[in-house]
Amino acid sequence: MEKLEMERLKELIRSIPDFPEKGVMFRDITTALKDKQGLHAIIDDFTNRYTDKGIDYVLGADARGFIFGAAIAYNIGAGFVPARKIGKLPGETARVEYDLEYGTNTIEVHNDAFEKGANVLIVDDLLATGGTAAAMVKLVEMLGADVYELAFLIELEDLNGRDLLDGHSVYSILKY
Ligand code: AMP
Repeated sequence: MEKLEMERLKELIRSIPDFPEKGVMFRDITTALKDKQGLHAIIDDFTNRYTDKGIDYVLGADARGFIFGAAIAYNIGAGFVPARKIGKLPGETARVEYDLEYGTNTIEVHNDAFEKGANVLIVDDLLATGGTAAAMVKLVEMLGADVYELAFLIELEDLNGRDLLDGHSVYSILKY
């Protein structure tokens, strides 16, 4: 994405202090999603990057990863797989529990979501500490598939989320 376009896109993201708790600067993407040009710019950028890369599946993180993930999958001719919070998927699942600042979280995918050796792109709206993304990498690898790359609209660089991702390739459109 061109620098000017990136700057425009950044202006479309609303920052709300102290949400969901004190001290967190919440990057609200709904203001970019509802903007026709903003939504287009985001999906086009990901689509250009991932077209013709042999990606079999896009794995989207519950819930905002679904928004970009499904659109990217459709555009590049891949399948879409949701990684869901525990208890939402009806079939047998593989699950990974990971630490949050307070407590833990568990995400899961159906255990027949990927064939062995499938090429998987992981997508979420935002990379913060990397806990969610690392759990998604584990889910892919537990099922014997390969991670092509991890893609985010936003990366919070101070939190060094990349360090949790075992050297997997990371792409983010905007950095804060
Ligand atoms: P993490 O596991 O710490 O990398 O957090 C990533 C997940 O939490 C993503 O799914 C984000 O949607 C959400 N998240 C974390 N921090 C923020 C933030 N400052 N603004 C908006 N969403 C956030």
